[in-house]
Amino acid sequence: MQTRAAVVREINQLTVETVELDAPKANELLVRVHAAGVCHSDLHNMRGELRLTPPFVMGHEGAGIVEAVGSGVTRFQPGDRVLVNWLPADNTCPTCLSGHPNLCERLAKTTFLGLLPDGTTRLKTLDGVPLKHLLSAATMSEYAVIDQAGAIPFPADVPFEVAAIIGCAVATGVGAVINTAQARAGSCAAVIGCGGVGLSAILGCQLAGCYPIIAVDVLDSKLEFARRMGATETVNVKQIDAVKTLRARTRLGPDYVFDTVGSAATIAQALQAAAPAGAAVIAGLHAARSDVPIPAGALIFQNKRLLGSFAGSMRPQIDLPRLVELYRAGRLQLDALISKRYPLAEVAQAFADMEAGAVARGVITFQ
Ligand SMILES: [Zn+2]
Ligand SMILES: [Zn+2]
Repeated sequence: MQTRAAVVREINQLTVETVELDAPKANELLVRVHAAGVCHSDLHNMRGELRLTPPFVMGHEGAGIVEAVGSGVTRFQPGDRVLVNWLPADNTCPTCLSGHPNLCERLAKTTFLGLLPDGTTRLKTLDGVPLKHLLSAATMSEYAVIDQAGAIPFPADVPFEVAAIIGCAVATGVGAVINTAQARAGSCAAVIGCGGVGLSAILGCQLAGCYPIIAVDVLDSKLEFARRMGATETVNVKQIDAVKTLRARTRLGPDYVFDTVGSAATIAQALQAAAPAGAAVIAGLHAARSDVPIPAGALIFQNKRLLGSFAGSMRPQIDLPRLVELYRAGRLQLDALISKRYPLAEVAQAFADMEAGAVARGVITFQ
């Protein structure tokens, strides 16, 4: 069949075009996509900063309705509502069995290379060039073929756009707080970077009972979103020193500093700002392929912890249904997190707005 999709044929070249999508094979679902989240990781991939190389179809947050199933699919049938999770863990490898499906051995072999778990792709251009599926998902397309391991069912009272962002931004931000840091009620938290993941970390800090929750960014527009999502204080560090300011506001520093940027500068800031015996939790990807100097004394003499948080240390099959239920119970204000919707044709504008800090979370919606 044919589908309109956001395609990266060469690094930094984003087009919307009609492409060919093959039918789902064993253990796969054909999903009609209703909403796809706009995430910074898409940009990192488009710019060639991670392991994926073009050509590929963009998008790794999404939600829609199952249209058809391949052989061997028993948990889903046409008509089911599913959100797409880009961690199609096998749930059989030692990493999965030890409780870390976010680090499944399968991911490095296929998902990060833009292949479905069976090692192949279902997408190609109209002139026959095979296209990869970004993070085994490729949700910026009217239709997507995904492995059933990357699908999570959700009920009809959850909007597609909300379900779409739960699968990545929300799980990554909330998970950094709840899963990775296991933050305690009453502890003081700071969140560096107020994009979709940072705003979700603020929501996670609220769930965990942190106070105060200090949002840090260099754009006032993003700090305004942070206040709306529950930050109790905001700090614009464009002109002032983040570490000194966070320490001054909390006496010893925050118990937890969540760095959702992950640059060389912010990783060092997070560690330096954290209170003695506190934790710096690194959830951002900016320096993912570089080496970052660490102030070793802060780790040792002050007993600090430096915690990596990949995809919110998420266990998709457990954590994503929980996040859906927390939203339904009114405990996660995800409607407010989505501040702008775009048709697929305006996908380039959606990324431009994200980079400019003009949106909390943007979502591509499909009719
Ligand atoms: Zn994402
Ligand atoms: Zn595994």
